Amino acid sequence: MLSPRNAIRTLPSYHPPLAGRDGLRLDFNENTVGCSPRVIERLRQLGPEDLARYPERGPAEEIVARFLNVSPSELLLTNGVDEAIHLLCETYLDPGDEAIIVVPTYSMYGIYMMAAEAQVISIPAGEGFCFPAEDVRNHITERTRLIAIANPNNPTGTVAPEAELLRIAREAPNAALLVDEAYFEFYGHSLIAKRSGVQNLFVARTFSKAYGLAGLRIGVLIGERDQMRSVARVSSPYNVNAVALACLAEALADQRYIQQYVNEVCEARARLERTLEAAGISFCPSQGNFILARLGLPDFVEHMRRRGILVRDRSTDYGCEGCVRITLGPREHSDRLIAALQESLDEIGSSQGATRS
Ligand code: PMP
Repeated sequence: MLSPRNAIRTLPSYHPPLAGRDGLRLDFNENTVGCSPRVIERLRQLGPEDLARYPERGPAEEIVARFLNVSPSELLLTNGVDEAIHLLCETYLDPGDEAIIVVPTYSMYGIYMMAAEAQVISIPAGEGFCFPAEDVRNHITERTRLIAIANPNNPTGTVAPEAELLRIAREAPNAALLVDEAYFEFYGHSLIAKRSGVQNLFVARTFSKAYGLAGLRIGVLIGERDQMRSVARVSSPYNVNAVALACLAEALADQRYIQQYVNEVCEARARLERTLEAAGISFCPSQGNFILARLGLPDFVEHMRRRGILVRDRSTDYGCEGCVRITLGPREHSDRLIAALQESLDEIGSSQGATRS
């Protein structure tokens, strides 16, 4: 009988709760209002011939390369950052190689690493989820072939100092270091311009978050040109769909839209931090479009759902007992979030009081 490889049989499954997501979706770190109207306009212009042809990545890659100020040979458009992670695992990991992640972090790193039969070395984040730079460096061996770090990190929103990341790249010359900048727009600091001479450093960006295009599945991987040639060998020439490629130029051109959205999210972030502080709830100061809060209330997600707001239970992530991750959006969403949060806390508080009395 047909049986999957051992590595796949034992792979933990990652099933994010995608079904029945009605309401205000603050559970997946998406853009809560959607993409620029210029993208929608471009979508309307697409005709049957655009869909009949196999997609051509080249022209869109030139546009993205110009935007990021890198050469097109240093860049590959991918089917979301997820594909970029997968491609790096395929390119660099042999069975038994070591691959390092810092936990808690984005689940797909470990999944693709395990599927490649690598040994995943999970380094726990430090106090307050701070980046454990020294521990990461101490775990680098000759067998380390891939290190994946989200910066800012998901689900914590914490960041790793740039100098530490560059030092890790230098101290692990036989390993690919992926710095996943999926949340770059909400943080503002990138390693893309600091890569010069660092042959093993890769940076990934996505259009799923600030740009509001998670449904189109498009991301980008940047690295040294010879390395990128190897990575591109594993990729399908048609990995990014024609609709995403057609929309990309418009999405990038409307930077005013992105900036406005990012500003509103950053305001909402500060506002939620103040609200949590006032309620005596501990949280992780975040540089992403989300906040991880240690509510310690098992029913909180359900209380919010009843008020039409989806937030994400992260309590089973490493070190995240009692934690919920809340995505931020512009003012109107922030108003609804904070009202529902306060109502939920009051309701939980009074029912706990009632149980106690
Ligand atoms: N990296 C990180 C750190 C993420 O949080 C996510 C999405 N949750 C991704 C990558 C996936 O991005 P994409 O939609 O581009 O595949």
